[in-house]
Amino acid sequence: MKTIERIAELRAACETARHGGQTVGLVPTMGYFHEGHRSLMRAARAADGLVVVTIFVNPLQFGAHEDLDGYPRDLAGDTAAAEAEGVDALFTPSQAEMYPEPTRTTVHVDGLTADLCGAARPTHFDGVTTVVAKLFSIVGPCTAYFGRKDAQQLAVVRRMAADLNLPVDIAACPLVREPDGLAMSSRNAYLSAEERRAATVLSSALRTAADAVGAGERDRVAITRLIEATVATEPLVALEYGEVCRGTDLAVVDPIDGEMLIAVAAQVGRTRLIDNVTITIAGAEVTTDLGVTTQESEL
Ligand code: AMP
Repeated sequence: MKTIERIAELRAACETARHGGQTVGLVPTMGYFHEGHRSLMRAARAADGLVVVTIFVNPLQFGAHEDLDGYPRDLAGDTAAAEAEGVDALFTPSQAEMYPEPTRTTVHVDGLTADLCGAARPTHFDGVTTVVAKLFSIVGPCTAYFGRKDAQQLAVVRRMAADLNLPVDIAACPLVREPDGLAMSSRNAYLSAEERRAATVLSSALRTAADAVGAGERDRVAITRLIEATVATEPLVALEYGEVCRGTDLAVVDPIDGEMLIAVAAQVGRTRLIDNVTITIAGAEVTTDLGVTTQESEL
């Protein structure tokens, strides 16, 4: 595996691979790898000739009072993990490499970024789409792998790629959970032992909501109330939102029908966590996709 810090070098490596007939798989990340990141790398490794993983803690997507400076980093551990997953190129640009000047150009996806996480983080998705557009431009035609953990991000990036005719196929990968159901996140490292235990109420609330839909509930507000009531049983967890919307365009549908996303965000102490479940409703038939749960032995 090659670690690359310069944009020109990564661009050249991707072009050479494509000229040689290889496909390119791109996994954009902010590092501090866990099994969720590694599952994206494995998906890319299984499908593509040249696998590129990027680590860049993108200042543009952090709000003024968010955790940019404290965001967990472990380049040595990440390098070993990427190497173990058979990654070909690890791109670790500096801030100066990515933003030699303050950017005057940003990418904004209208509508999809206003609600859910966009309500509390109004500049976040512009930061994400701007850096992802830059990475797509640097890497060129490829398949880019994103986790369903960040369901709104996935919908926003898909829409950006479609609207701008970017030569990138977006592949969605399953949400990976800890054995007790907590969605894996680099930010879980911030949690105290007590907060870590309390945080499982989020996946419990999603499961409760999905079960209610399975039992016939179709009223959007009733599902929202159920999430609120479940999370309220855990005093260490402050729910920011519990919402139900269409998975593809995040539109509000009431009564719920088709492919729906049930999404939550909450503050656990000073840590902000998100989680979601996808449910597909076809008449009385309901399928629930909570993602995949790792076993203790795999960690
Ligand atoms: P991050 O480093 O948190 O920006 O995440 C980089 C990529 O990994 C994004 O596409 C995330 O959706 C994905 N990811 C993060 N956590 C998980 C998880 N628990 N399961 C699946 N994908 C994840």
